[in-house]
Amino acid sequence: MGRIHLAGAADLPKTADVVVVGGGIAGATDAFFVGRQGFRTVVLERAPQLASLTTSQAVACFRAQWDDPDYAALVLPSISFYEEFAAETNLQDWPIGLRQQGWMFLTSAADGPATLGRFVEATRTFGVTDSELLIGDEIRQRFPWVSERITAASYRARDGWVSPYEVVHGLARAAANAEIHLGTSATAILTDGDGGRIIGVRTERGTIAAGRVVIAAGPFAKRLAATAGLDLPVTMVRHHRAMVAPQPEIPADGPMTLDTDTHAYWRPEGGGAFLGMGQDEAGTDPVDPVPTDWTFPAVVMDAASRAAPFWTAIADRLTSAEISLAAGQYTCTADGRPFIGGTGIEGLYLHTGDNGWGIEGGPEAGRRLAAIMAGQAPDDVRNPYRLNRASAAAGAVRTVTY
Ligand SMILES: Cc1cc2nc3c(=O)[nH]c(=O)nc-3n(C[C@H](O)[C@H](O)[C@H](O)COP(=O)(O)OP(=O)(O)OC[C@H]3O[C@@H](n4cnc5c(N)ncnc54)[C@H](O)[C@@H]3O)c2cc1C
Repeated sequence: MGRIHLAGAADLPKTADVVVVGGGIAGATDAFFVGRQGFRTVVLERAPQLASLTTSQAVACFRAQWDDPDYAALVLPSISFYEEFAAETNLQDWPIGLRQQGWMFLTSAADGPATLGRFVEATRTFGVTDSELLIGDEIRQRFPWVSERITAASYRARDGWVSPYEVVHGLARAAANAEIHLGTSATAILTDGDGGRIIGVRTERGTIAAGRVVIAAGPFAKRLAATAGLDLPVTMVRHHRAMVAPQPEIPADGPMTLDTDTHAYWRPEGGGAFLGMGQDEAGTDPVDPVPTDWTFPAVVMDAASRAAPFWTAIADRLTSAEISLAAGQYTCTADGRPFIGGTGIEGLYLHTGDNGWGIEGGPEAGRRLAAIMAGQAPDDVRNPYRLNRASAAAGAVRTVTY
């Protein structure tokens, strides 16, 4: 069982096999799988609680519908992990808010049936046999609230979402050989004289000697990597999440619904809904907390109403008391794929570059990283998420469609 220490409640150990910096979904999955490999693991989280930065802002959906084979290979086992959470963690009566209500991509494009048809075919080649292409009125027969203008949908009924806070706390609790220190900031990663090898981590509360360090610091990963002399090619981009209080029009049993034309999405939550939208924001420095822009709820409801017109009626009568707004930062890479693996500095590892998909791929990312650290998985050209891949260089083209 992982031991979780509140800020200052226990002395920091002087040594560890592995120090994981960050107590979000990445750090929690790393602690769980690295500890399972037998490494004595210390997790440092500077906030007074786990899952408090990007992870707490997530809409937390997952989908098996990917047309990128490497991403499918990351997400499919992660979904299985969530489905089997009790057996995987040996935690009984630990609900993680798993709701498999589906994920639906929609488009109004005239060639939508062909485009989404190719997408569904691609998902099938990666072993997803239950994704469906719905065309025209086939969509409205199942989901009467979908607009007449929508021409095609890609849908999988067993996609859905989890509650990331419960996932992270469950993993932290179930992590063997791990102790977690809250309220403890890593101020520098320490290397030997020539900077080629990791020797520990400095914190505000003392130094921990360790031969292996994992950077799982979310938007702050670049800043932390710089203390070890590593220039991490990531940018931090803000994304909003609006939460709307219960409304009669919102189908409580509806799927995660994403309009590929506008990038607006929503999913039901407690009678209301979470809404989000991919927007063209510029990258910034990491920030905590992430400031919000109160024009976002109106913008996202307007965009969502194209595919689901009931959002217009809701937006027209909604009061500010019925909306809450939050924002987090995606840690983005040039090719849209994460960094999972070593760095060229001996003992320094990465689990970052989530591109907004860190919850759905988290468990398999943690498992792979732990296998690499234990020498059970390759960290060369066979690792599609290695740091030194050509496509991760600045200016590269994103390889992921949606
Ligand atoms: C609006 C929104 C919607 C999203 N929806 C989804 C979704 O539907 N599905 C999905 O898969 N993903 C989604 N995401 C993305 C998901 O939230 C992230 O991919 C994931 O939470 C990243 O987790 P992380 O552990 O890497 O980072 P974080 O959660 O940011 O955790 C990093 C932790 O490191 C700590 N830290 C940083 N520096 C230090 C230091 N020096 N010392 C100690 N601790 C430190 C921070 O305090 C923080 O707790 C969404 C994100 C947003 C913003």
